[in-house]
Amino acid sequence: MPSLGRLGGGSSSTASRLSVSVEGQYIDAGGEQLWVDVLRAALAHGLTPRSWTDYLHLTVGGTLSNAGISGQAFRYGPQISNVQELDVITGLGEMVTCSKKKDADLFDAVLGGLGQFGVITRARIPLVPAPTWARWVRLLYTGAAALTGDQERLIDVERGDALSGLMDYVEGTVVADEGLIGSWRSQSPSSSSSSFFSGPDAAARFAKLAEEAGGVLYCLEGALYYGGAAGGERDVDKRLETLLRELRYARGFASVQDVSYVEFLDRVHGGELKLRAAGQWDVPHPWLNLFLPRSRVLDFAAGVFHGILRRGTTGAMGPVLVYPMNRNRWDGGMSAVFPEEEEVFYTVGILRSAVSEGDLGRLEEQNDEILRFCEEAGIACVQYLSYYADQAGWEKKHFGPAKWARFVERKREYDPKAILSRGQRIFTSPLA
Ligand SMILES: Cc1cc2nc3c(=O)[nH]c(=O)nc-3n(C[C@H](O)[C@H](O)[C@H](O)COP(=O)(O)OP(=O)(O)OC[C@H]3O[C@@H](n4cnc5c(N)ncnc54)[C@H](O)[C@@H]3O)c2cc1C
Repeated sequence: MPSLGRLGGGSSSTASRLSVSVEGQYIDAGGEQLWVDVLRAALAHGLTPRSWTDYLHLTVGGTLSNAGISGQAFRYGPQISNVQELDVITGLGEMVTCSKKKDADLFDAVLGGLGQFGVITRARIPLVPAPTWARWVRLLYTGAAALTGDQERLIDVERGDALSGLMDYVEGTVVADEGLIGSWRSQSPSSSSSSFFSGPDAAARFAKLAEEAGGVLYCLEGALYYGGAAGGERDVDKRLETLLRELRYARGFASVQDVSYVEFLDRVHGGELKLRAAGQWDVPHPWLNLFLPRSRVLDFAAGVFHGILRRGTTGAMGPVLVYPMNRNRWDGGMSAVFPEEEEVFYTVGILRSAVSEGDLGRLEEQNDEILRFCEEAGIACVQYLSYYADQAGWEKKHFGPAKWARFVERKREYDPKAILSRGQRIFTSPLA
């Protein structure tokens, strides 16, 4: 048996629920632990998990009940694809240790299972040697086709293209109107070693580019890890040189910043603190997260980014994310629902906050309009982190017949009295 080192970044109760095995290259984390503490505990041994969410102050059990996605998922899959073993208490009160080798059906059911089959009390997460630094790159684009074309080259790790795999993290954002441009700029690196935000005419250049692009800009956001296990600075310089030569961003609109690996992974926390101070964190978040097939992403961009989101200004703020993932890094046997028809699918996260009177209603209406648009345009999208008011919504709009049948079967097996996570409104009464 490998020896277990009990370590953690937080309180002693946190520490006792985070155990790193250096020999085994994994961490055992309590389901209630925050990912930021998982990171600290692993880094104490020079190790790190591979797949993340954008925001780290979420629990292990919470993200594993959904999928857990961020810009590393193209390479390593979502967090649910990066679990070796789980301890679960099922709705029958049984405590089961499960994995792909033992009680595999329960393991697959729970991962992405929306808390319907059991409570995750421990997850074993594989670790790899950690890098020390991240070179954080932001490149502005004037069109969705150029952005998505480049993103797809970057995530195509198997093709051997000049760009494939050069970035360790690939995301993208839509920078849509004056308000969004303003909020996006204020979150951007202030001490960039090279930035299109610096210089006396930066704002004017930015505005001119936005005007030329018809009011909608896109940003490719990427990171290259280096130092420690990830290789030296010279290598990262070369990788960046290739990227800046090959990618089709608007020349002169590149921002590059070196930050520590931790600072990069925990980047959203800084924004959280600012929003908290402004009283804008604990406000309603009518988020809409969608997975859509690669073949329809440009239709979606035309209809939504250049259409629906441009109409009707709201005081609302928040990022709009768009980035692709490789389907073969997802496991169709698990409960998470994702588009399975094409090799690549996109995630679009419209992550706005309702900050002013009337925002919430307007944003919810806009979300409905986006879903109607997809339906009418025949864009087969699936909601991620979805909410439906009743079982029919989950069955028909989310799972579809085959996945629904399997979901119900598993519910019958592991929580027939429907005592777990009733708040999701998937099952509100015992199964017959
Ligand atoms: C600010 C913010 C940023 C986010 N960013 C991302 C992101 O970048 N990528 C991403 O993929 N998601 C993201 N999410 C969504 C996140 O994955 C889900 O909201 C997740 O449920 C959050 O975990 P939590 O600890 O807050 O869960 P909670 O809100 O505590 O729980 C949500 C549900 O998860 C289930 N659950 C929770 N714990 C367990 C457990 N131990 N066992 C079984 N079921 C459990 C239950 O059904 C519960 O109702 C974000 C959420 C927020 C609030």
